[in-house]
Amino acid sequence: MKGKIALVTGGSRGIGRAIALKLAEAGCDVAILYAGREDAAKETVGLIEEKGVRALSLRCDVSDGAQANEAAKAVSEQLGAPDILVNNAGIVRDALAMRMTTEDFRAVLDTNLTGAFNMIHACLPIFIRRRSGRIVNISSVSGMMGNPGQANYSASKAGLIGLTKTIAREVASRGITVNAVAPGFIETDMTRGMSEAALKNGLSAVPMGRIGQPEDIANAVRFLAGDEAAYITGCVLKVDGGMYI
Ligand code: NDP
Repeated sequence: MKGKIALVTGGSRGIGRAIALKLAEAGCDVAILYAGREDAAKETVGLIEEKGVRALSLRCDVSDGAQANEAAKAVSEQLGAPDILVNNAGIVRDALAMRMTTEDFRAVLDTNLTGAFNMIHACLPIFIRRRSGRIVNISSVSGMMGNPGQANYSASKAGLIGLTKTIAREVASRGITVNAVAPGFIETDMTRGMSEAALKNGLSAVPMGRIGQPEDIANAVRFLAGDEAAYITGCVLKVDGGMYI
């Protein structure tokens, strides 16, 4: 993957950071987008550069189409036109549906689903012109099996699977693959914010009996973004310790 340009949304922390570092290790120059945590983004850039490749971080709210377009343009100008897009940026605003506000429903859909669409929309012309490209969307088993308290999140992650399959069909003839990775419980700030009871309950549903690490997801993304996965498109790869079988 030497010389390839990767664009990872939500690359400042957690799973996104692990993906960025894994792609950097494989030889990619990596651009990360983040929402507001500049300190974390800077740290990730330093870690990417330690792998001997180029790095760029841009503050960009992916839920805003104009910002997504500007970010894709800035990456092309400052690092090079992207070859790989990883839609990883995501948020949670958990509450039982009875108590969930429309604002919280919409905010999660806007970032997790519309954000991915915006980035795909911004990068597709580049991939189509070049007749190659890799898109990996980070979904969740929550979108496949549902999860009480996560109506907004599960809907967004299920939507990502539909988005993945549709775009895969639309651009397969152009040498572009589009796949999704569906993590189970992974140890990041997102899960560290969960209550002890919710975490315990979640883990009890994992046959392997342990929480996953961001690197587990990064390995799957690295595979789907690489040459070995050239004939794989429209697939959803679960990385969940058997949580959803
Ligand atoms: P974190 O909360 O640790 O990190 C979220 C990242 O997304 C940060 O880099 C954050 O930027 C960025 N981000 C949030 N909103 C936006 C936005 N509007 N525009 C651009 N960037 C944004 O999350 P995880 O690493 O845990 O999760 C990464 C992905 O994996 C998410 O899509 C999540 O839904 C999915 N996932 C996670 C699981 C888990 O158990 N952790 C399980 C299943 C799926 P900043 O640092 O600036 O805030």
